[in-house]
Amino acid sequence: MSKSWYPIIDYNKCCECGKCVNKCRQGVYDKSKMPKPIVIYPQGCIQGCHGCGNLCSEKAITYEGDNGNRINRRRMF
Ligand code: SF4
Ligand code: SF4
Repeated sequence: MSKSWYPIIDYNKCCECGKCVNKCRQGVYDKSKMPKPIVIYPQGCIQGCHGCGNLCSEKAITYEGDNGNRINRRRMF
């Protein structure tokens, strides 16, 4: 079964601040390419998580599988 939720980076918007790469603890981003966000392990991404996208001031992160329903955009503490 293919992964249905992972971040997609719009490199036209991204300013390479590295916040998203720093944020994720699931190994989704390649830390060796820091601060450029390179998704290497989409399978590790948590379904419904917006952790990295919420930090992105450039709004460069969207999610594969996101139906645009922002009601579920809760913060995870
Ligand atoms: S948080 Fe946004 S602007 Fe910063 S590196 Fe990630 S995608 Fe790029
Ligand atoms: S959505 Fe959450 S789990 Fe997925 S890459 Fe971003 S911080 Fe990591």
